[in-house]
Amino acid sequence: MASTRSVRLFTRAKRVIPGGVNSPVRAFKAVGGTPRFIASASGARLRDVDGQQYIDYVMSWGPMIHGHAPAGLTRALARQARLGTSFGAPSPLEVDLAERVKALVPSMARVRFVSSGTEAAMSAARVARGATGRDKIVKFIGCYHGHADAFLVQAGSGALTFGHPNSPGVPAGAVAGTLLARFNDLTSVEALVTANPREIAAIMIEPVAGNMGVVLPQPGFLQGLRAICDRHGILLVFDEVMTGFRLAPGGAQQAFGVRPDLTCLGKIIGGGLPVAAYGGRADVMDQVSPAGPIYQAGTLSGNPLAMTAGLWSLKGLTPALYKRLAAMGQTLAEGLASAARDAGVPLQVNAMGSMITPFFTDVPVRDFDSATTSNTKAFGVFFNAMLDRGVYLPPSQFESWFLSGAHTAKDIATTIEAARAAMRKVARRKG
Ligand SMILES: *Cc1c(COP(=O)(O)O)cnc(C)c1O
Repeated sequence: MASTRSVRLFTRAKRVIPGGVNSPVRAFKAVGGTPRFIASASGARLRDVDGQQYIDYVMSWGPMIHGHAPAGLTRALARQARLGTSFGAPSPLEVDLAERVKALVPSMARVRFVSSGTEAAMSAARVARGATGRDKIVKFIGCYHGHADAFLVQAGSGALTFGHPNSPGVPAGAVAGTLLARFNDLTSVEALVTANPREIAAIMIEPVAGNMGVVLPQPGFLQGLRAICDRHGILLVFDEVMTGFRLAPGGAQQAFGVRPDLTCLGKIIGGGLPVAAYGGRADVMDQVSPAGPIYQAGTLSGNPLAMTAGLWSLKGLTPALYKRLAAMGQTLAEGLASAARDAGVPLQVNAMGSMITPFFTDVPVRDFDSATTSNTKAFGVFFNAMLDRGVYLPPSQFESWFLSGAHTAKDIATTIEAARAAMRKVARRKG
């Protein structure tokens, strides 16, 4: 397929933007080829600058649960833009959105809006440290909590894709308090807690991991973390930037019935505009400035344009939507597994609702080590074969695919058909 304009734009981009992109995984470096420059998006479709159309499973990496550019949202944004895009003073929309978040995620008695998931996670860690008077944070290998210094150790997402889970430029001091545990391994957590008595402020986790590909918590794992935290006065922080409003209206904490002390939200909460949030227990969050001494601020935080998109996005989260997403997700997961089986390609499909990752391995994927048994070359062949057939997947093995309400049963059928051909191509390349 012709991608002349994308190639030309990429050449120009590389002269002014590092690697030609504003977020690493967009660059197709892990799968080969030139990233497609997108001219427009509508519903479940992307259109690139060369006029090619794709069924999109990236969906801006999660936010677009209602599809791209829904008419109601674009109307609401146009209306709000005429009234002003940022005031630097409180507006009614912030109160409306905070109340709606609290109603959907009851553990969030207080909510503070920020502009990115990175900020949300960074701020939640600061609040946990400030509130407990302790300095250390437990994180899980392969989980991603944005690019703040303290979290760039054994991090997932692009850091994992490009083999730099630990970044240069992060001072040793910034990560000295970051302790690493293994996902789905309570023993590894207990060991850290025992070795660091009364020093751990928070255990921070993606309750369903999405940034080493989708990895589900084993039964009892999240409950076990809750119990450890309760025994040792540690705050349990769920980073639900990806899972919030996606796995259920109340996120993974609702789906698994485990109540964290603090929660990070992002992606869907902004409906495609830069919004994220952190919040939780009133006694903890009321220590945030200006109610308390823990400082955190933002010039564009809670701006009316972003809040408008967030309100529109959350208002559309109906039971019917989750039902449809779950049904399509299951069909797609089964279709991918069957396509692989028929072609003789080893594949493990991890899925929950509208989050799906097919791992090119025969090892069940339960943590970082099993995720990295995947054959990333096979994934690259699959990715490019799908792209050629008009299906736009995340350009990395270690990411979640996302469904939206704009996807149709026909899109899923078309995708499975393409996957059958792509899997045969993977099988042929192997020999
Ligand atoms: C995407 C993501 C982040 C980072 O959010 P940004 O808006 O990209 O800064 C943090 N945590 C999780 C779990 C995420 O999926």
